[in-house]
Amino acid sequence: MSRIHKLDSVVIDQIAAGEVVERPASVVKEMVENAIDAGATRIEVSLEEGGARKIEVRDNGSGIAPEDLLLAVTSHATSKLSVPSDLEAIASLGFRGEALASIASVARLRVVSRTPECRAGTALEVNFGRIGEPHEASSPKGTRFLVEDLFAELPARRKFMKRPSTEAAHAQAWVERLALVHEGIGFRFEHDGKLTFEVHPEDDLESRCAAVFGKGLAKNMVEIESQGDPLSCSARIGPPESARRDARRVHLFLNGRWVRDASLLRAVREGVKEFVPIGHYPTLFLALHIHPNRVDVNVHPQKTEVRFRDERIVFGTVVNTLRRGLASAPWATRAVGAIGSSAMQETRSFPAPSWQRADDLQGESISVEKLPDGVAPFLPMEVAEEDRGKGQFLSVANTFLFRAVAGGVEIIDQHALHERVNLEELRKEVQRGQVIMQPMLVPALVDLSRTELDLLLTKAETFLKLGVDIEAFGETTLAIRGVPARLQRLHPEKLVRDLLDIAGSFREASPDQIQEEMLFSMSCRGAVMAGDHLDATALEDLIKRGAHLPQDRTCAHGRPVRVFLSIEDLERAFYRR
Ligand code: ADP
Ligand code: MG
Repeated sequence: MSRIHKLDSVVIDQIAAGEVVERPASVVKEMVENAIDAGATRIEVSLEEGGARKIEVRDNGSGIAPEDLLLAVTSHATSKLSVPSDLEAIASLGFRGEALASIASVARLRVVSRTPECRAGTALEVNFGRIGEPHEASSPKGTRFLVEDLFAELPARRKFMKRPSTEAAHAQAWVERLALVHEGIGFRFEHDGKLTFEVHPEDDLESRCAAVFGKGLAKNMVEIESQGDPLSCSARIGPPESARRDARRVHLFLNGRWVRDASLLRAVREGVKEFVPIGHYPTLFLALHIHPNRVDVNVHPQKTEVRFRDERIVFGTVVNTLRRGLASAPWATRAVGAIGSSAMQETRSFPAPSWQRADDLQGESISVEKLPDGVAPFLPMEVAEEDRGKGQFLSVANTFLFRAVAGGVEIIDQHALHERVNLEELRKEVQRGQVIMQPMLVPALVDLSRTELDLLLTKAETFLKLGVDIEAFGETTLAIRGVPARLQRLHPEKLVRDLLDIAGSFREASPDQIQEEMLFSMSCRGAVMAGDHLDATALEDLIKRGAHLPQDRTCAHGRPVRVFLSIEDLERAFYRR
């Protein structure tokens, strides 16, 4: 074994580079962040061969003073922090003073920069860690970085690079993220001479969303704001049909920094779960502003992870802001041809976006008068003997309720509708503090372990607010003495299991959160299931209750309550179009 010795500074920088410079996209991210920190209003990025050959970043920011240029490429040199306490309230995107040195140790770097005070610019070359002499060079005001032959001397790293188009896409993704949140700055991204992304300094958030998500989607995104202390939050969220299984369309920002934080992502899922199917993430732009001393961004070399001082406040704010905003979104309001004959009248003026086709139908309103010739407002339907008396609904497989409405056919999922009805009604009662409880003639008894029983009893007060009255009945038995009157289908044993799950997984949660969770679970448990036969009265009752909901597009789990097949859809199915 060799003796222990100190590593030379180039090797140290190359090791550090491993953490910061993973691929061309990381170079782009660090350099664009530097340009933003330097107050630039125009930032241009151009790559060749996915960045393996060349990465160029130009800005019109403050520039680097000639005497600082050497320091800028030296590790642990930064202009953004000076005393240790600065670390407690980081307001800039950079602060580690490591990026340029790291990049310069694994590539050929050329910097040319000019501050407003200088008449000429200064240039400096660094060749895989070997630093040259600063010299005069002509330069516009601002800074230009040129990075060539990234990882050329580090075959191990180079091997991990993907196809140029993939690397370029990752790099562009960083430019898009930063462009979304930094209004006032123009961004351009070019790959192999082709311009693939551009926003102008004067472009507002909607134009930026359009550039990133596409025009059609951006137009349908809903704006959500909440101003608060210590936290304010502004968001744009896309309609349910733009949700995806991966979180690639979720853009979370903290004080202008794009972050990927597990607890924030959980808050997002929690906040949108009524509107987005389980296991999906919405299209979302969400920018949080919090005083820098309330958050620690110095957790991870790439600075994409953060730690909040008041995690619960942040979590709660995000959840509530999203919920509140979503509740008033156009796609959360009542569907076309909403059920019940009085609602029929409303279709005259209602816009008619259907759940999966909001895009095509946005803004168009279908009125009874506008129906194509020869199509009656109610398609004649053969109604089976057993379904007589169910009004205009045809129940299929004891699950789906079909009905002709203006402009097409509406299909309701009976469980989803009932669940939503329960949720809305119960929530209203709870908010007014007047849940009607049905005392049980004979309390239902459920055997539990000692710990389970204790756990449930600690939450008894919260449960009672929701109309569930529990008490201990001996050492290991729980007695349920009452359940909400409107949830007659609640099965006591299943309810208790759910309560245990909630009490267990939300130990730290506030009573409000537990209450929300309970509402969800009770609404589902108290709903008719797919396959349950509903007699005419039960069906009518469900339909009637469903006709006056503040929102009834999706069930409490984000699945659609109703689906609309337009006449156009039907015509297509029969090759009439
Ligand atoms: P950090 O951003 O953490 O300070 P970097 O290694 O990224 O560390 O940059 C080192 C220093 O170089 C910065 O603190 C800044 O003073 C200067 N610098 C880097 N890029 C630019 C730029 N585009 N414009 C002006 N100054 C820059
Ligand atoms: Mg930096």
